[in-house]
Amino acid sequence: MTRLVIRGARLLGAAAADLLVEDGVITEVGSVGAPRDAQVLDADGLVALPGLVDLHVHLREPGREDAETIATGSAAAAAGGFTAVFAMANTSPVTDTAEAAERILDLGRACGLTEVVPVGAVTKGLEGAELAELGLMARSRARVRVFSDDGHCVHDARIMRRALEYVKPFGGVVSQHAQDPRLAGREACCHEGEVSGRLGLPGWPGIAEESVVARDVMLARHTGSRVHVAHVSTAGTVEVVRWAKAQGIDVTAEVTPHHLALTTDLLVGYDPVFKVNPPLRPTEDVEALRAGLADGTIDAVATDHAPHARHDKEHAFVDAAFGMLGLETALSVVSDVMVRPGLLDWADVARVMSSAPARIGGLAHQGRDLAVGSPAHITLVDPDREVIVDAAASLSRSRNNPWHGRTLRGAVQATVHAGRVTHDVRSAADTGTTHRELTNATTGADL
Ligand SMILES: [Zn+2]
Repeated sequence: MTRLVIRGARLLGAAAADLLVEDGVITEVGSVGAPRDAQVLDADGLVALPGLVDLHVHLREPGREDAETIATGSAAAAAGGFTAVFAMANTSPVTDTAEAAERILDLGRACGLTEVVPVGAVTKGLEGAELAELGLMARSRARVRVFSDDGHCVHDARIMRRALEYVKPFGGVVSQHAQDPRLAGREACCHEGEVSGRLGLPGWPGIAEESVVARDVMLARHTGSRVHVAHVSTAGTVEVVRWAKAQGIDVTAEVTPHHLALTTDLLVGYDPVFKVNPPLRPTEDVEALRAGLADGTIDAVATDHAPHARHDKEHAFVDAAFGMLGLETALSVVSDVMVRPGLLDWADVARVMSSAPARIGGLAHQGRDLAVGSPAHITLVDPDREVIVDAAASLSRSRNNPWHGRTLRGAVQATVHAGRVTHDVRSAADTGTTHRELTNATTGADL
């Protein structure tokens, strides 16, 4: 039997307690006398959260292993406190069959640093024309429950309706990248507004997102099915989701850390690290997103971790790839912009970064209370530790990190996945090794 004792953690930021973990399950909470053979994690002063769950990451494998692999993405996830991540389907080949989904599941399990859950494509090849094998993916070993053409919008209303009808019997959900292709064309590369006008960059308006979300919540009402809005970026979308929830429509929504913190003003230097889809928006939108997350209109934080190789990202702004890294900094950003100003407490963070995304994604064994009988997926956070983000220190294979050089307060200290310590800042410091070396030594994974 493997035993782990977590000593003196403040559960969800409240009273301190010890946790005994035996063979991957929490078996005692309170005052625990450490058995002699137990590994002990001193968590004095740390906040214990259920392991973080990310509904939206791009791990790039198969097809773009020069940007990220399931191994490097899993290492970044563990360092960020995540015990489960949903890997988007826009790989090459696309995850649009049961076999492709099972392959990703198996690669994730082989790494063993975090649970890698495949997202299935809604349409074959993400082409928006024909439904993918949704039922076969759902019945496969990968048990796919989240379907998304992310990167592309399912813009055909008839296809979206069919997809919603199809996933309903098995409790699936369609996660929509809401972007009307007629309102936000191929050339659009930032928010349409004062800044895009000044910089001479082709922009896209918030309405390109909001109009699709409005349509989709009505389709969810019509079909009685479940829709999830990926990366909400505008105040108007928050309003639509708030209205839809008030009507009892089965809609959930996520927001990224970068949309909670960064604004379109950052584009004045034309630095492509800030080029992302959906684009960074003005302050009014950022404030509405924070308020929407605080009042429960937005259910979850999801990173949209989007690694890119240098040769795809380091271009003139209009030509650079969309996307930014997010796994390793997510908790720190949420701590900095939501917890410190009092918009969320740690119990709320557990909800928006663990239990709600686990529920939305259909993972019954993740996002559970830190209680006897729960699987031991646990994230330990130092609420006061300041981190200066260093892009070069990332465990991701890519370096498109918009937080580089910033100071954030609140940081993941250790991660326990299925009872095993998959990340521990202090043991890395104690032994004089870097996080990268520690992860290598622990897993033997080729990073
Ligand atoms: Zn997207």
